[in-house]
Amino acid sequence: MIREPLIFEISDKGKTPIRLPKLDVPAAPDPLTGAAVRAGIEGFPQVAESEVVRHFTRLSQANYCVDLGFYPLGSCTMKYNPKVNEKVAGMPAFTRTHPEAPEELVQGNLEVLKTAEELLCVIAGMDAFTLHPSAGAHGELTGMMLIQAALKARGNPRKIVLIPDSAHGTNPSSAHLCGYKVQEIKSDQRGMIDLEDLNRAMSEDVAALMVTNPNTLGVFEADICRIGEIVHAKGGFLYMDGANLNALTGVARPGDMKVDVLHVNLHKTFSTPHGGGGPGSGPVGIKKELIPFLPVPVVTRTKEGLVLDYNRPRTIGRVRSFCGNFGVVLRALAYILTLGPEGLKEIAQIAVLNANYIRKGLEGEYHLKYATPTLHECVFSDKLQQEHGIKNVDIAKRLIDFGLHPPTMSFPLIVHGALMIEPTETESRRDLDAFIDAMKTIAREAREKPDVLRAAPHATYVRRLDETTAAKKPILRWRPAE
Ligand SMILES: *Cc1c(COP(=O)(O)O)cnc(C)c1O
Repeated sequence: MIREPLIFEISDKGKTPIRLPKLDVPAAPDPLTGAAVRAGIEGFPQVAESEVVRHFTRLSQANYCVDLGFYPLGSCTMKYNPKVNEKVAGMPAFTRTHPEAPEELVQGNLEVLKTAEELLCVIAGMDAFTLHPSAGAHGELTGMMLIQAALKARGNPRKIVLIPDSAHGTNPSSAHLCGYKVQEIKSDQRGMIDLEDLNRAMSEDVAALMVTNPNTLGVFEADICRIGEIVHAKGGFLYMDGANLNALTGVARPGDMKVDVLHVNLHKTFSTPHGGGGPGSGPVGIKKELIPFLPVPVVTRTKEGLVLDYNRPRTIGRVRSFCGNFGVVLRALAYILTLGPEGLKEIAQIAVLNANYIRKGLEGEYHLKYATPTLHECVFSDKLQQEHGIKNVDIAKRLIDFGLHPPTMSFPLIVHGALMIEPTETESRRDLDAFIDAMKTIAREAREKPDVLRAAPHATYVRRLDETTAAKKPILRWRPAE
């Protein structure tokens, strides 16, 4: 492995990537040429164009990404994103639209938004969708605000939100941000919501139950309809975190499972590239009772065409600027339309098949806490490797040496030393076999040469970092050597 120097280390005084013609006017500080900037920054690197290009191209090769290989990050749905979606999102007709353009000039854009809303309603079995939220967690907050508004309209916003211990970590945060007290519901030995615990906890103080389904173990909450009845009987709402709809698309609809509010992550299931901070999109689907409270503006079909409706007296208001992350919605719409109903169903079928192929392939080599069948992901633990002093982090770091991205670690919290694997439907059997082989090799190394694992990764620019120091004393700025 060649160590790529810092760009400051390949700097030579006087080198410049551009040579401009001699000035025939008086010189002024021009930020565009960088002269002023360079003059003002001590030690600013001076390099040739070829050096800049090669430096950053080499660095880009050191980055791992979904276009390079397998990315089994559980609960994140890191699937391959078809390039045709990018092509559509890059069309000048869309990229050149001004967000303040009058409605009559952007009928096409509004049609994109409305069609996406309508198709999501069909896919999820909900009555309406808002595309405004910028991410999953933002969708959760929006969904909880809708529930709170509906309860207020009924006379009492209530105080408590119930959340199972297998929920995604953003769920309690969103409920809390909305002003609710969070109360935990236990999982039973199947890894599902304990109905007795739910029955005990459900009261007329409870605004909603937030359930991730399939939950973070990859287990489908088989009692979801019964759960909905228990919550509804006391006047509460059933909120479903559908960030990972991969397991269900085209096969089952949350709206048919007594779910009142649901968010989905377009940047997961619906094939928008994600990671590195966005942009994302976390549309929220709702049942009829909640429609009056939708955030504004609402794209509405009228005889004169599509309009942005702001005149909604019971709205929760705005949750962000404009109508959401348009480019993300556009990619998702292109993806949904290219796949069609059959293709959407295949996503779920193959995502579930792939996860179970890995589960079967690694059974016995890695410990499975729950025997319950899983859908789109499976959660192993490091229990067997712990006998040799090897932890999940050692396994994850070693995977990097095999050219593979590690799975999600130490989550869900109910599995100690978790390794949460979500292969998604876009991986071939060859890719899955390569991953299984690597994991088996690592299991053998744990028994035979654990020191190799403890020192991993061996094949990267940067080796094992001290994560505590990195988190507590991050070095975020380069400084010239003293
Ligand atoms: C990813 C995820 C979220 C949060 O989504 P963001 O877009 O990262 O805010 C919420 N719930 C589940 C189950 C998720 O997998």
